[in-house]
Amino acid sequence: MNDTFTSNEIHGGTSTEVLKRSFLDNLSYRQAKFPAVATTYDHYMALAYTVRDRIMQHWLQSASTYYEQSVRSLCYLSAEFLLGPHLGNNLVNLGMESETRQAMLELGLDLDRLLAEEEEPGLGNGGLGRLAACYLDSLASLQIPAIGYGIRYEFGIFDQELKDGWQVERTDKWLRYGNPWEVARPEITFTVGFGGSVREQVDSAGNYQVEWVPDRHVMGMAYDTLIGGYGVPTANLLRLWQAQASESFDFQLFNVGDYQGAVLEKIASENISKVLYPNDEALQGKVLRLQQQYFFTSCALQDMIRIYLQRSSQLGNLHEKFTVQLNDTHPAIGVAELMRLLIDQHAMPWELAWEITRRTFAYTNHTLLPEALERWSVELLGRLLPRHLQIILEINRRHLEGVRKRYPGDEERASRLSLIEEQGSRAVRMAHLACVGSYSINGVAELHSRLLRDEVLRDFHDLTPEKFHNVTNGVTPRRFMLLANPRLSALITHAIGDGWIRDLDQLHRLEPLADDAAFRAEWRVVKRAVKEDLAEKVQQRTGISVDPESLFDVQVKRFHEYKRQHLNLLHILSLYFQIKDNPAADVTPRTFLFAGKAAPGYQMAKLIIKLINSVGEVVNGDSDVNGRLRVAFFPDFNVKNGQWIYPAADLSEQISTAGKEASGTGNMKLSMNGALTIGTLDGANIEIRDHVGPENFFCFGMTVEEVASLQAAGYDPGSLVRDNADLSRIMHRLSDGTFSRGDTELFRPLVENLQYHDPFFVLADFSSYVERQREVSAAFQDREVWTQKSILNVARMGHFSSDRSIRDYCREIWQIDAIQPNGFNSKFKP
Ligand SMILES: *Cc1c(COP(=O)(O)O)cnc(C)c1O
Repeated sequence: MNDTFTSNEIHGGTSTEVLKRSFLDNLSYRQAKFPAVATTYDHYMALAYTVRDRIMQHWLQSASTYYEQSVRSLCYLSAEFLLGPHLGNNLVNLGMESETRQAMLELGLDLDRLLAEEEEPGLGNGGLGRLAACYLDSLASLQIPAIGYGIRYEFGIFDQELKDGWQVERTDKWLRYGNPWEVARPEITFTVGFGGSVREQVDSAGNYQVEWVPDRHVMGMAYDTLIGGYGVPTANLLRLWQAQASESFDFQLFNVGDYQGAVLEKIASENISKVLYPNDEALQGKVLRLQQQYFFTSCALQDMIRIYLQRSSQLGNLHEKFTVQLNDTHPAIGVAELMRLLIDQHAMPWELAWEITRRTFAYTNHTLLPEALERWSVELLGRLLPRHLQIILEINRRHLEGVRKRYPGDEERASRLSLIEEQGSRAVRMAHLACVGSYSINGVAELHSRLLRDEVLRDFHDLTPEKFHNVTNGVTPRRFMLLANPRLSALITHAIGDGWIRDLDQLHRLEPLADDAAFRAEWRVVKRAVKEDLAEKVQQRTGISVDPESLFDVQVKRFHEYKRQHLNLLHILSLYFQIKDNPAADVTPRTFLFAGKAAPGYQMAKLIIKLINSVGEVVNGDSDVNGRLRVAFFPDFNVKNGQWIYPAADLSEQISTAGKEASGTGNMKLSMNGALTIGTLDGANIEIRDHVGPENFFCFGMTVEEVASLQAAGYDPGSLVRDNADLSRIMHRLSDGTFSRGDTELFRPLVENLQYHDPFFVLADFSSYVERQREVSAAFQDREVWTQKSILNVARMGHFSSDRSIRDYCREIWQIDAIQPNGFNSKFKP
């Protein structure tokens, strides 16, 4: 083997020869193994280090360019980043997959086996965390200077197993065998205080001063993960904070002889970054959760100020060099924290600090569900963060003064706009803090942004309409097309070139090919092959064999009543009883595939998972059905499994109650991979339908307005059951033990909830859904027309690239420009 590589080549080269050499070096010197005893995991680690070095070169160059040019940067603050496996994605973005595959082959290794070794960092629950990850990919690919800030949870989202059809949670020990993608930065550590008291004093010059004396300190240490862009020599940082005990503090207890107490304190401190809260779209008002939020937000803002002060001596222009996007209200305490840092630590007057703060933050709202809007009790917040409560109350005093000046005598409006909820026990409304403390407020789809303006944040819209924006979510086509679906990507590239990967609107060039019978045939060959791959995985993971010829009807997402997996189930049952009535009925064979996790404490969601498995057991084993319907639950839905499932779908189920799903992004991933959607007019479904054309989208159900008027008129789900024979049989059979081995109690909570309450209007949309599903079945019989619609879906999904979302943010909100790293000497020519 050639032994004359330069250091630059060893760490940055992408030829097969140099890759082999770097890989073997890493196996020896980083993984500490000789080839005869190295395991597949060692090989994965050695390759991961090899790839990381290549991104490292890009990052060093990007970071030094940002530093030299003192650029304006984005800080994206998010309590969650649901990244998915790194290795495959980095190979794709670096454009070195085939060289790497070859290098591994020449060493007797199979790249796919190494890829399968990676344990994904599940540092998020679902859509919100995955959005943050898609945005990191697009920011780097568009060469926008950015840092993602979050928490390095030791335990990410739990792993889901199924036992007798029930969800069982297992801890996610993703760091068990080490994480080759991160760089520990013990030198980048900040102190974060909690509790204690506030002392007010007047200094010798007569200035009023406040000193917060916390009674506990926790250290936050940085761990950096490099995020490389696609086809560009740019890499940005994802900086995650891990909590560590502060030495000075244990020392005090230690000195008074309380060794045990000191150790317990240490454990308590380190608990802050121990585990991700597994609730999606519902808050748990736990003090540890607030500690997590404040912990990472404070570290991020202190780091931002540190970086700023490398190039400047005073903080008056902080907002010109940094803008901070708040991914939901989880980091909204940052508004008070930046005020505190500027006023208490950097001796800035309130007015100037407020001016900077207001011009620094921008806020993204992610939910309209009232149970998901964060409120912290004044008592709890005051105990944990007394100085912040003081600052929040002062922000509120000034804010309400302005409100009263503008709307004299309108006390109701003032109380609606207040940062403090006065009814019941007093609480801080984090969304209001975020609105007042930022220069931009955005929703994540057109409908959602409209509902924010007209309903949830209406008074804020009246007050400052210029702050309001919409940025419809997007997903990265690199991970969810190129990486997850290489067959379809190759077909597309063969047809229209590879420009679509960086400019997804170019998919429009596929439109004329929808009318080309030969292209449609190739499209079907690809879909068929991808479905075969998934069928094999389903067999492996569930033991259920599914027919790749059947319609793959897919609903994969977190389990939540508003997402209405149970509506999908009612349709399955309707088809099942149709077959039981007439086994000779002509039904389009379907495979119903579900996947998703339920929050561990969310009993109704867990019961719906059990019901899916119970219905599957009956339907799959019924000889009258004879394989025409299959119901499978794919366990442990995460990014890795999603990459198997999304490409193989024929039909995408996006059936939330109108007005409840802020945007959705699973809807985008599926349509981009050629699934047709059956969906409500909710979230981004509406925009997807507008783009792909209503004739290529199966729309059903009530609109937001119809839901509201039904609600107002008094909704009686029981009458719908009585008036619909199909529905009354289904409801009856759900409670008579048919699907529960004779147990008539098991599903009662679910059935009764639907009969007597049905808070998400499942029964109200049932008929419309079943009717539209009949059209789906008929449409799938004509494969030529179906394929045409599938191609047109993909061709018209360019708008839903996260690159477009990031461009929208840059142009309308952040005012940040792309930067080329200078002096780059690799195959990536700026
Ligand atoms: C995209 C994605 C989601 C979001 O799905 P929705 O259908 O928009 O709710 C959740 N989890 C994972 C793993 C994802 O990749």
